[in-house]
Amino acid sequence: MYDVVISGAGPSGSKCAEILAKNGFKVALIDKNIAWRKPCGGAVHSRIFKYYPQLRKMNFHQISGITMYSADYHQLKHKWNDTRDHSITVDRLEFDNFIRNIAIEAGAELFDKNLSYDFIIKNNRRIGIRTKTPSGSKEYLGRVIIIGDGMSSKLTNKLGLKKNIEELMFAKCAIMEGENNLDENFMYIFFKPFKGYGWLFPLSEKSFNIGVGIFGLDHLKYNLNQLYTEFLRDPHIKKFLPNHNYIKKWEGAYPLPGIGVNEKILYSDNIMIIGDAAGFVSPISGEGISPSVISGNIAAETAILAFEEEDISKNTFKKYRYHPTIKKIARNYKMQRSMINFLFENKGSNLSRMFELAERDNSYREEVVGTFLLNHTPSKDFLLKIK
Ligand SMILES: Cc1cc2nc3c(=O)[nH]c(=O)nc-3n(C[C@H](O)[C@H](O)[C@H](O)COP(=O)(O)OP(=O)(O)OC[C@H]3O[C@@H](n4cnc5c(N)ncnc54)[C@H](O)[C@@H]3O)c2cc1C
Repeated sequence: MYDVVISGAGPSGSKCAEILAKNGFKVALIDKNIAWRKPCGGAVHSRIFKYYPQLRKMNFHQISGITMYSADYHQLKHKWNDTRDHSITVDRLEFDNFIRNIAIEAGAELFDKNLSYDFIIKNNRRIGIRTKTPSGSKEYLGRVIIIGDGMSSKLTNKLGLKKNIEELMFAKCAIMEGENNLDENFMYIFFKPFKGYGWLFPLSEKSFNIGVGIFGLDHLKYNLNQLYTEFLRDPHIKKFLPNHNYIKKWEGAYPLPGIGVNEKILYSDNIMIIGDAAGFVSPISGEGISPSVISGNIAAETAILAFEEEDISKNTFKKYRYHPTIKKIARNYKMQRSMINFLFENKGSNLSRMFELAERDNSYREEVVGTFLLNHTPSKDFLLKIK
């Protein structure tokens, strides 16, 4: 019997487990396979240091600038080393293991090779979860259950929350090695005439993550594999990657939640949903690592409060949904979602105009950077100017 059973030891589940274990609670952290490298661009916003100051001492690659291109190749280059902390780019296998170990050191018990597939129900209450393991089925009982097992969650499906195809984004990427012409301190984003973008994120002087993502229903019109292959062969990309023999270290594709936080599904009696499973991914940029960590952190604090107040009903867990930070993230994502059609109108012409304005005017430039990197809302003045 555990105080809390957490399904999924990715960024959201690991942060949640760490906070609960640190506060003396008995935590079971369950994962289907910790040797899985989550398909991801691996770009992590500097706000992660607030949640993981330990990352500063690690040797993760530092990024302090971005070059973005509109579909017609207007370029916007932005450096932030004087104004804010650096971001990092990571190999997810390494990163996830690092933060998972922090949770284990705090006292959480990890159960690997356990695939959660159903709840244990008694007297109409969900009192634990069932998993499949190589040695048969297992049961983990917990007073509180937290679902952080991402897009392949079977538990959210059991709650009737299966996402339909219109609610998804898709992305494919690879980690490659070889000599290149990238500035290793910069990330590169290439917006497309469809709703999506390609990226090049340096991981070191000689390795990088390359990928393509599609959102806003355009995945119903385009084939991701084909777009990915075209991106790798694109002459504009070839300028940065002139060699013919890059070593592919790893490649993967995966869905992302595409419509932002689903506020209606964040909690129930003794249950909370965190990270990708609950939609904590920016609908414009696909950034989800730090928002997932934030949701895991707030869910843990809410669970602690519930134990203190001896009320683990939805009455207490609604405080997770209505937490100011969760509300702010949800509101920003709603705004971003409403902007997608506008930005990509006429094969990305508004986006292109945005970059054109930013080339000329510093305040507009700040607005573009704020929109894509910091989840800010562009001002009315700027939007009118674009039109
Ligand atoms: C191709 C791609 C590129 C991306 N690039 C970026 C990026 O550059 N920057 C960024 O910030 N975000 C990016 N994202 C989003 C980011 O990967 C996610 O938002 C983030 O990983 C969510 O963390 P999480 O803990 O909620 O879920 P996950 O990271 O998906 O972790 C879920 C965990 O649960 C486990 N699990 C899954 N199913 C089960 C089960 N049934 N039972 C038990 N365990 C289970 C998995 O093994 C995994 O460890 C990208 C996503 C994709 C698909």
